[in-house]
Formats: sequence, structure tokens, C-alpha cells
Amino acid sequence: MDRQQEFVLRTIEERDVRFVRLWFTDVVGSLKSVALAPAEVEGAFEEGLGFDGSSIEGLARVFESDMLVQPDPSTFQILPWRGEEEQTSRMFCDVLTPDGEPSVADPRNVLKRTLRKAGDMGFTCYTHPEIEFYLLKSQELGPDGVPVPVDRAGYFDHVPGGVAQDFRRTAVTMLENVGISVEFSHHEDGPGQNEIDLRYADALQTADNIMTFRTVVKEVALMEGIYATFMPKPFSDHPGSGMHTHFSLFEGDSNAFFEAGAEYQLSKTGRQFMAGILKHAPEFTAVTNQFVNSYKRLWGGGEAPSYISWGHNNRSALVRIPLYKPNKGQSARMEYRGIDSAANPYLAYAVLLGAGLKGIEEGYELPPAAEEDIWSLSSAERRALGHDPLPSSLHDAIRAMEESELVAEILGEQVYEIFLRNKRAEWHDYRIQVTPHELKRNIDIL
Ligand code: GLU
Ligand code: MG
Ligand code: MG
Repeated sequence: MDRQQEFVLRTIEERDVRFVRLWFTDVVGSLKSVALAPAEVEGAFEEGLGFDGSSIEGLARVFESDMLVQPDPSTFQILPWRGEEEQTSRMFCDVLTPDGEPSVADPRNVLKRTLRKAGDMGFTCYTHPEIEFYLLKSQELGPDGVPVPVDRAGYFDHVPGGVAQDFRRTAVTMLENVGISVEFSHHEDGPGQNEIDLRYADALQTADNIMTFRTVVKEVALMEGIYATFMPKPFSDHPGSGMHTHFSLFEGDSNAFFEAGAEYQLSKTGRQFMAGILKHAPEFTAVTNQFVNSYKRLWGGGEAPSYISWGHNNRSALVRIPLYKPNKGQSARMEYRGIDSAANPYLAYAVLLGAGLKGIEEGYELPPAAEEDIWSLSSAERRALGHDPLPSSLHDAIRAMEESELVAEILGEQVYEIFLRNKRAEWHDYRIQVTPHELKRNIDIL
């Protein structure tokens, strides 16, 4: 028993914790949870807890279904929304095979593997997500068949007494109570759309934080009698919900993306990392934008990026180098704007980071920055400038991923195959649907 494990056992006793939830994530990013009695926790630390992996999307094949979850004591947290009486806590888990090896199909392990690779190259990776989501009156659709947002406010609006403001206050307090620091929160552009930005943390911790964040936001919404959705594009006429993520690599104490005096203060490492992300973006978009609906966001306007490009302070670019003060070199970073709020954060961060590291390993050249508004260019102009499109549908994204050795290597053969199988099935279900849109357009004229 190590010190962190002992600390958890002591806290459970002192705080009279009644339930310990063990959390892990399936391949498409759904949170799974099993509640343990406090007396069982010591055993779970030592031997793991058995479960049927074949019943969880993507974790195991039926003939090798016995799996174990082993709690990571560094992630122990009391969950504040369950009330003071019956204290409930949680720990994230690693998934293990019966002989105690990390499971190749565990998304958390996929990210850990990529972070180990970064570590071997001398880097620690920090991330900081901006998470957008919509608050709806309920899960039910309105009479016109679209969701009903809680308000009609827009970007940065202050709505006195508004639902969203109370919601953000409660949610931010709750997040701080589970150890997640919030940097910034505001009303976003769409009606009922909100954004909460988490403080930077190492990439594994950020991915755990995102899973907790989604649960907290959904719980707080339920407490307030409303409903929160991370669907990438719930409205045709309003912006989608992105999860822009800022990345930086550190070598020891110094930011490897920063070079004083260089163009945009961006070091060679930074340029190569960004070149890796840009070059491989079509191949990994099925992971960062994993649903049919994700492509409605990417191609539906509302400041979502559709073309592969980078820029300095250019919001039409896929990757953006944000402005920062020259004496703040430690905050040098790049923002990936493609990823949406419904991505599996472990897999999405693994492919983004893996693509960036590939750029460094291979010494990729960065194409010139996009200075102009890419949406306002003609397609010929975009082609001439080399701004290729991102995949236009889940189908195209699957095709590009099928051709990608890099994504197969980062995810590992098993996750790669299972992910593709799951996504092909989603696309097949979708493409045979006759939608209200087609009916409205066609029924009276054809
Ligand atoms: N909601 C936009 C998106 O889908 C982003 C708006 C912003 O720049 O924050 O990516
Ligand atoms: Mg935003
Ligand atoms: Mg942003």
C-alpha cells in the first residue's frame, strides 16, 4: 500500500464516506461508474475489481471479457452534489487485463502511452480546454421539433437574474469543490450557450477533468431544473459547441514553444508541432469530431473552422497562436479549434499530441500563416493558398482515418479497429434516414 492509497483509506474513514465510485471511460467517451462499499476499496487497490469488459463499448472482445479496474488514488475526490449525509466519492481507474497488464483498449491508457512518448522526447504536455455547451429548458424538443434554449442572450451578455448566470455560479463552485480550477466563464454566442474554461493542467489530468466537468454540468443543470447538452451542433441556426484546446510543451521549467524574437515568438519545436497537427488533421478528425452531428458544426458557420490553416489571432483558422505579452513566454501555446465538446478527451488529446510529436520527430515544415478570413475566400483562392478542407462528413473522416498509419499507431490496433467499426455503424444508420429537411424540401414538388 503506497502513501496515496493510505491517504484515501484514511479520508474515507474520517469523512465517513459511504460510497466510492470507480470511474472509467469507454472508447466513445461515455463515463462508466461502479459504486464500491468502503470496505472493498483496499482490495480494489491491491487486486483491482473484476467486471465484464465485453459489455462496455470497445473495451474487450467476448472471448476475453474478464477485465479489472484499478483505482488511481491521486484522483480521489468527494463528490459535493450528493449531499452531506451520505458522502460519495470517486476515483478514476485504469483498466487492466486479468494478469494485471494495462489494457490496450483503455482510452486513459492510450493517452498515458502518448504522454510517455512525449516524456521520452523530454516533454511534459499541458492543456487548457474551453468547453462550450447549451443549456436547454428540458430534454424535450419544442413544438417546432428543435430544442428550447433557456434564454435568448448572446456573447458575453449579462442577463440579470438569468438562469445561465445562476447556473454558472453553482457549476463553477461545484467544479472548484472537486478540485477543478476554472479560469473563465461566460455566455456564448448562441441562445442558452455557455462556455467554461478550465485552468491548464497536464493532459491526463485535463482529460479526467473534462469527464468530471461533463458530469458536474449535467448534475447542476438537473438540480436547477434545466438540461445541459454537449452535442456539437444542436441548432441549425446557431453556432455549435467547440472544445478549443490550448497545448504547450515544457522541457523542464521552460516552455518549448517560446523563442524570444522569433516570428510570433514561436520556436522551431512549436512550428514543427503545429505542422504535425495540420498535416495529420484529416486523419484524426474522426476522433476529435466523432459524431455525424460534429460535421454540422464544422460546416455550419458560427466560427467553427472548416479549412486546414493556422493563424495568429485569426478566428477562421484551425490552429491559432493566441496573443500573449512578450514577457510572458511561459504562456506560449497553440489553440486547436477543430475539436468539439463531445469528443472522448483521452483519445482526442492522444491523437492531437501524437500528431504534433510526429511533426517534431520528422522535422515537418510549417506552411505560411493565414492572414485573411478564410471563409471569405473563393475555393480557387483557398486552393492556391493550400487551405485544404477538413473532412466534410463522418464518412469522409472515417475514410481518411482508415488510411492513417499514424492514428493506428497512436490508438493501438484494437482501439483503432473498434473505433472505426463503431463509427461505420453510426454512419450507416444515419445515411438511410429520411430527414424532415428532405421531406420539407421535396414532398410537394417531387
Ligand atoms: N462556438 C464556436 C465553435 O464551434 C467557437 C466560438 C469561439 O471562438 O469561442 O468552435
Ligand atoms: Mg468560445
Ligand atoms: Mg477559443
